[in-house]
Amino acid sequence: MSAAPEVVFLPGDGIGPEVMGPAQEAIDAAVRGAYGGTRQLRWREALAGQAAFSRTGSPLPPETVDAIRAAGVALKGPLTTPVGGGLRSLNVALRQALDLYACVRPVRYFEGVPSPVRHPERLNVVVFRENTEDVYAGYEWREGTPEALRVIHFLNREMGAAIAEDSGVGIKPMSVTGSKRLVRLALRYALAHGRRSVTLVHKGNIMKFTEGAFREWGYEVAAREFAEKTVTEAEVANGGAPPGTVLVNDRIADAMFQEILLRPERYDVLALSNLNGDYISDALAAQVGGLGLAPGANLGDRCAVFEATHGTAPDIAGRGLANPGSLILSGALMLGHLGWPEAAQRLEEALARVLGTRRFTADLAAAAPGAETLTTAAFGRTVAAEAA
Ligand code: NAD
Repeated sequence: MSAAPEVVFLPGDGIGPEVMGPAQEAIDAAVRGAYGGTRQLRWREALAGQAAFSRTGSPLPPETVDAIRAAGVALKGPLTTPVGGGLRSLNVALRQALDLYACVRPVRYFEGVPSPVRHPERLNVVVFRENTEDVYAGYEWREGTPEALRVIHFLNREMGAAIAEDSGVGIKPMSVTGSKRLVRLALRYALAHGRRSVTLVHKGNIMKFTEGAFREWGYEVAAREFAEKTVTEAEVANGGAPPGTVLVNDRIADAMFQEILLRPERYDVLALSNLNGDYISDALAAQVGGLGLAPGANLGDRCAVFEATHGTAPDIAGRGLANPGSLILSGALMLGHLGWPEAAQRLEEALARVLGTRRFTADLAAAAPGAETLTTAAFGRTVAAEAA
């Protein structure tokens, strides 16, 4: 890795530009603090969203996609999803254009942060969510259209279905290739980071050939490609994997939602299909302090886009209320991905110290009586000072 890699940044819409500047300040400070000027990120701005649309007529100009492809790494603010017409979602379009097939979200608790549960510190998991298939593939037809009726008639007449004619219809494709590469990445991550288990989360009791197949293919990857390094629950009597190996198990999605509340300490890395992963990521984030502290990465084999997992928060945009924590933590993930673990750790620890001394942005301060409230910019500066 170069000592000065190029990193594309997309400020995005709404609170995006407000959180991007402070996050970059904190990230740069951590790099300086860790390597004393021998390494440095070369930031290159690219446009997406409303700013891109007003300047170029396109919300996702090809130059932006090309720039990310060339650099291989980007840090991204939230983008407004256009309602009606055009692209379904810019985020989905970007993921598809760059084949970012895994959405990775580590969720951990930071001491001092207000949480709705009694023991938020018991939760420390990394979510691997499939990013390109399932109901997010976008194959659906509106009720009453000739297309919907055509699909319904085909299914009713030729496939023995009994679908009401006034239905909207969506397709849920899940492939061997898409499922296996996601589970493979989760297993590699678990082994590289000394994690204890990978849990395949699915709704295979009901949807056998999509969700159920995801489970089967997941076990297959473990058995065929990681035979020496993985064990299943059936193979270990008391549920613990021998040192150096990862336990592979599975849970049905609805039960998993109970588990993360009742027994979060039993789980470590989760591998999920797209929709299940979507729901559980936000539920997990809520347990440890909300979206303002939830980082994310979209990974492919050639590119990685690190992003705040929250949206553009139009209700608070422009008022200095936004929490840049999510983007700062995404920056820490990015530094880890670049092979700069010292800077990554420094940044995460700096953020932890600020939160631990109850210095919060308004979202967290509102639930923490007596805490000091910082603006978005002041919060970023404070983390930067800690990380320097
Ligand atoms: P949102 O995440 O923007 O906001 C939900 C709530 O959380 C709001 O009350 C908001 O004020 C609060 N919030 C979010 N981020 C915060 C932060 N960093 N600090 C403090 N509070 C924060 O979700 P939404 O309102 O459903 O969506 C708004 C827009 O964002 C929509 O256009 C949506 O499509 C888009 N969106 C984009 C992304 C993305 O780019 N990755 C993700 C989700 C939503």
